[in-house]
Amino acid sequence: MGLWGKDIARTKYVGNVYVDQISSIKKENKALFRIASKCENCNNNDYYSIYETFRLFRILSIPLVQCDTVYYFSCPECNFGFKLEDEEFKKLEKIALINSKYMEGSITKSELETGLKDI
Ligand SMILES: [Zn+2]
Repeated sequence: MGLWGKDIARTKYVGNVYVDQISSIKKENKALFRIASKCENCNNNDYYSIYETFRLFRILSIPLVQCDTVYYFSCPECNFGFKLEDEEFKKLEKIALINSKYMEGSITKSELETGLKDI
């Protein structure tokens, strides 16, 4: 029975975090100390892309459990990146989601700035 217990992998794009946002957060918060303000490999990026990957264990083609969730970020220029700790991901995810809302036009520039201050 090939359908039984088949598990599949998914990668979910969370959003972008800009390098100037990382450097301003690093000044006030130690949570992102491992993340270089600019890509430590090529030093040539304006932002990082944040991703979440996980496995969906499914039974009879019904996705049941999300497991082995891993968060990571990568440089759009050279694809350098590494796995994020939960704490780092939580911070970057908040920024990425606010950025996405702004890009979609659902919040204003001042709401973007206020949102970033609260992180
Ligand atoms: Zn790079």
